[in-house]
Amino acid sequence: MIETIAKNLKEVEQRVAAAAGRAGRDPREITIVGVTKTHPAAAARDAARAGLLDLGENYVQEARAKIEAAGQGVRWHLIGPLQTNKAKYAVRLFHLIHTLDRPKLARELDRRAAKAGVCQKVLIQVNLTGQEQRAGVLPEGLRELAELAASLENIELLGLMTVPPFLPAEEVRPYFAELRRIRDRAASWSIEGASFKELSMGMTADFEVAIEERATIVRVGTAIFGERSYT
Ligand SMILES: *Cc1c(COP(=O)(O)O)cnc(C)c1O
Repeated sequence: MIETIAKNLKEVEQRVAAAAGRAGRDPREITIVGVTKTHPAAAARDAARAGLLDLGENYVQEARAKIEAAGQGVRWHLIGPLQTNKAKYAVRLFHLIHTLDRPKLARELDRRAAKAGVCQKVLIQVNLTGQEQRAGVLPEGLRELAELAASLENIELLGLMTVPPFLPAEEVRPYFAELRRIRDRAASWSIEGASFKELSMGMTADFEVAIEERATIVRVGTAIFGERSYT
């Protein structure tokens, strides 16, 4: 399995570099997060051995065994929705939480991070679909949430994340471009203590398009670990 993961990773790295080149960017600005969801802990361990040191999971519970198996030196990313009552575990497990989307969660992460003696890095997830039931803060709520996050001592806001609707890669481009515009506007607010440097967007089907639209973090599962089976 490690050979397959290493070969797939190399291909993804080459595609990242090619997309960065097309956009006149330095590929070193782009972090590949390997998404291990539904794959066994051994996959996380093999990915780490193959040199992929940023890994992502959607759920706290599913991440535990993989975090253990992957060992030291891996930065874990939480890329799925976080229930407020799981914040106390999340602050001990994850380097970066991509899915801050409400004030209550910001306050709870701050409180739990303080208890754990850490400063929790976060991204705000933005909902660009216009459907209120989807995850993420609506663009009109971003400023208030960013100001709150920036005011809390034990969380550090580093940027934005989005999950666009499920569409072919070229149809997703406008969503990536929109997140970038929203980011540029947010940066112009000059909120003290907030950074909007990171843009987490793009998955297996569309990470090259996301990089062309200035993604700094791409979340890639299938292209590295193979198809998921949910049985
Ligand atoms: C599953 C998942 C990914 C990875 O998806 P692939 O299409 O397998 O690359 C990325 N981001 C989020 C939020 C996900 O849930």
